[in-house]
Amino acid sequence: MNPPAYPDGLSAWGEPPLVTGMNVLTNPLLNKGTAFTERERDVLGIRGLLPPRVFTLEEQMQRTLISVRGKPAAIEKYIYLTQLQNRNEILFYRLVMEHIEEMVPLIYTPTVGEACLQYGSIYRRPRGMFISLRERGHIAEILRHWPQPGVRLIVVTDGERILGLGDLGALGMGIPVGKLSLYTACAGLHPGYCLPITLDVGTENAALLSGPAYIGLREKRARGAAYDEFIEEFVLAVKEVFPKALLQWEDFGNTNAFRLLHDYRHRILSFNDDIQGTAAVALAGVIGALRLTKSSLKQQKLLFLGAGEAGTGIADLFVAAAQAEGLTEAEARARCWFVDSKGLLVKNRGDKLAHHKLPYAHEHPFAATLEEAVKVLKPTALIGVSGTPQTFTQEIVTTMAKLNERPIIFALSNPTSKAECTAEQAYGWSDGRAIFASGSPFAPVEVNGRRHVPGQGNNIYIFPGVGLGALVAESREVTDRMFLAAAQTLASLVGPEDLAVGRVYPSLTKIRAVSLAIATAVAEEAHRAGLASAPRPRDLAADIQARMFQPVYREYV
Ligand code: NAD
Repeated sequence: MNPPAYPDGLSAWGEPPLVTGMNVLTNPLLNKGTAFTERERDVLGIRGLLPPRVFTLEEQMQRTLISVRGKPAAIEKYIYLTQLQNRNEILFYRLVMEHIEEMVPLIYTPTVGEACLQYGSIYRRPRGMFISLRERGHIAEILRHWPQPGVRLIVVTDGERILGLGDLGALGMGIPVGKLSLYTACAGLHPGYCLPITLDVGTENAALLSGPAYIGLREKRARGAAYDEFIEEFVLAVKEVFPKALLQWEDFGNTNAFRLLHDYRHRILSFNDDIQGTAAVALAGVIGALRLTKSSLKQQKLLFLGAGEAGTGIADLFVAAAQAEGLTEAEARARCWFVDSKGLLVKNRGDKLAHHKLPYAHEHPFAATLEEAVKVLKPTALIGVSGTPQTFTQEIVTTMAKLNERPIIFALSNPTSKAECTAEQAYGWSDGRAIFASGSPFAPVEVNGRRHVPGQGNNIYIFPGVGLGALVAESREVTDRMFLAAAQTLASLVGPEDLAVGRVYPSLTKIRAVSLAIATAVAEEAHRAGLASAPRPRDLAADIQARMFQPVYREYV
């Protein structure tokens, strides 16, 4: 009569304690709502606590879908889905997985941006942990308050650079919550293994600090030693309390993001999705685009708008991939150019360059604008990661189309309102020749009677598989070669049907298969590099697939 062990994820936890009555109904990992069978209602002592009709999971999902679709605004759908997740995780994930293209924009970008802005007023009940500067000296103790034992995956933010929305402080919690939902939906990480964390170190956002509804610390963001010591204590506490966990750094401001990745990547199993995940998904898009232009990485010249985490992360991985094609590091770097808020990144520009920009500050005359830079550099690809909308102007796109038969134009800034150009503009201004991808979804566009389907260069294609692969192999580190393997695997999964409509990513409906393939490639790389602590199963893919969480109800009795 025990409810079953939690469905297996990465390893079995064993039987949870006997739970009955309201305790079953209020535990979202155990609750089946109206789908509890007649016998379960009797044995678990919940008869009368539910309406009499017994529904199947399929019927529940149809009912739920009608409710979601009935909400007029995306943010209301987000709130509804969050409440469903807090009530019944199996039903939530079944709905998200079966309607992935409709649900991902609701539980993640672009709606999650709006959700973060309103997090203070839509926050209902705990999902994840807030750890603030006040908890200094006690972080390990506080992590032990988390009710699930074997946490394996933590997504953590300090809220400084939430999507393209800037410093939202504690309101950034929507991001780790959303990312972890994607881990479960896309790669089958059991929800019970996932822990979203927001580190509240203050905020520079004056409107939040002076507003009445802000839920975080009302103080300026900590910097310097106070910040570093807090992070150090947090990392040590994670290692102590959840020694097998993978830590994903998420939406940190760019100076901290690079530093933290660099300082901790060999000390705790960790990666930064904004830098490394973005890099892999964008590189996969470029490799996919080359299947349309029928050229090689070696022949590309990339011009980035924005030299932050995303841009330089993509360039670094491009360099690794081009080296694998035979270029030297210097030759590969010479194919990556950047325009940031101060103009073309060149040596002797006159300002002090951040460390991550230095390898791309080439010997070249300065150009003040992107338009000028496009004209003098003649790039094959334009990659927008500036967070600044409408910066790929008609003049720029038209010039790219004059320079290239199939110009690669990726407007990756999120959310949709921040995209450097829209799909309609990219296709329209290039006579339908652009190979376009964006960070947030755009609808297909028809130009001269031809349908173009924009690819969404969404990190969702990469990080769930990378995380799963690193976890099943019990890798000691997440390496750049793992991200390269992930990018190559993703690009190899773009089918002829995708390329026929100009799409450089597979359909999201294949996301579980994509994540499985990436997890397998990543785990394989962990074994190859001698980083895996788990023994290598004979059939790696089958082993990983068997561990993936499936949203199906177990029979409790
Ligand atoms: P960041 O703050 O680290 O970097 C932004 C860079 O853009 C800086 O170099 C800044 O100087 C530059 N910039 C800003 N405005 C500019 C302008 N008008 N002209 C030229 N340069 C300008 O941010 P990030 O983490 O690199 O993210 C940048 C954008 O990329 C965000 O909008 C984010 O949503 C998006 N992004 C997309 C994906 C994806 O689609 N998969 C992944 C990660 C980030």
